[in-house]
Amino acid sequence: MKGEITSKEMPMSVFANVVKQVDHAASLLGIDPMLVEIIKMPRRSVIVKLPIQMDDGSFRVFTGYRVQHSIVRGPAKGGLRFHPDVTLDEVQALASWMTWKCAVVNIPFGGGKGGITVDPKTLSKHELEHLTRRYVADLLDVIGPESDVPAPDVNTNEQTMAWIMDTYSMHVRHTESAVVTGKPLIMGGSLGRREATGRGVMLTVREACKRLGMNLKGATAGIVGFGNVGSVAADLLQKEGVKIIAVTDVMGGVLNRKGLDIPGLIKYVAETGSVVGFAGTTPISNEEVVALDVDVLIPAALENLITAANADKVRAKIVAEGANGPTTPDADEILTRKGIFIIPDILCNAGGVTVSYFEWVQNRVGYSWTEDEVNGRLELVMVSAFADTYRVAQEYKVNMRVAAFMLAIRRVVDVILLRGVYA
Ligand code: GLU
Repeated sequence: MKGEITSKEMPMSVFANVVKQVDHAASLLGIDPMLVEIIKMPRRSVIVKLPIQMDDGSFRVFTGYRVQHSIVRGPAKGGLRFHPDVTLDEVQALASWMTWKCAVVNIPFGGGKGGITVDPKTLSKHELEHLTRRYVADLLDVIGPESDVPAPDVNTNEQTMAWIMDTYSMHVRHTESAVVTGKPLIMGGSLGRREATGRGVMLTVREACKRLGMNLKGATAGIVGFGNVGSVAADLLQKEGVKIIAVTDVMGGVLNRKGLDIPGLIKYVAETGSVVGFAGTTPISNEEVVALDVDVLIPAALENLITAANADKVRAKIVAEGANGPTTPDADEILTRKGIFIIPDILCNAGGVTVSYFEWVQNRVGYSWTEDEVNGRLELVMVSAFADTYRVAQEYKVNMRVAAFMLAIRRVVDVILLRGVYA
């Protein structure tokens, strides 16, 4: 899309962004620099070459990554992404954000992430299955229910998770559901998992509105990204009375100042593959949504959407980060200076991994919860993580991002200090 920055042209490394965030929060906490060195770098980064036989008989070699940033608080946890721009740098950044995210919501996981550099749209289902299985086979001694548990992320879904579970289970000679989360319901998935990230976005926006004295009912919102996160957040926020006036996806965007019919739009996307051309709308670009006069701006696509180049144009009162890393550190400063309330990614989109944790627990116990139970527990976790973060923000007079990092770093470092460094 015009004006969009792809990670190939990114002015700086995404991992450098997360390192800056960690350094800043750790310095405010007065953490020993030696400990900061330990928590900054990923503990393990694995790169695998994946030769795949294509449907026409030819071979192509893809590159896959799995990064375990931390296992201090529990098994590494984090999604698997299929995208042409996936790099080691990006996966390391995403793995680090997972460590802090799991600590913010206080679940007993570390942080991990996986990725394969591939445009999945160019592969058949059969080829994607081969690629996924080969990736799992090569990482057999890396992933596992006690060591590192993958989940869906950009361009991966329940089917991908089913292949991961099957491949792992075939190799270990027993069915091991807890090796992966985000599975189809009939094979150990959890009710509410698919909607969990979007539900968490809705809950944190609701909590932010309460603190800011804003009425959720009648508030307006613009969303960049209409995948699993953006579409569910849109739907649930609309049910709370929010008017979603603009939505974009990789093909383009749609605007209707009177409010988009979100269930209708979700149906339209299922039929056509994109929001583009939805009846009663005019086209809008990502850059225009960023600058839109709305109460809530929800970046729910990839990293680095809000940069020093466009942060000044943001007019929303709340930026709710459904995506991971959508705001660069420079842009963060600009938004904060403008008095914009940021709900940082490691809090805002933590609903997904929280219900992944519930799925893992259900698999290990061999008992499944009702949807109300899942949603009720998710709400408790998100509301208390928001309150914890808000308390740190008030106490240290910092924005919500810095507060979330401070909260998370404290929780990780306290465990390191108790466990001790095995040097
Ligand atoms: N990919 C999601 C995230 O970035 C979910 C991770 C998980 O459930 O493990 O938070």
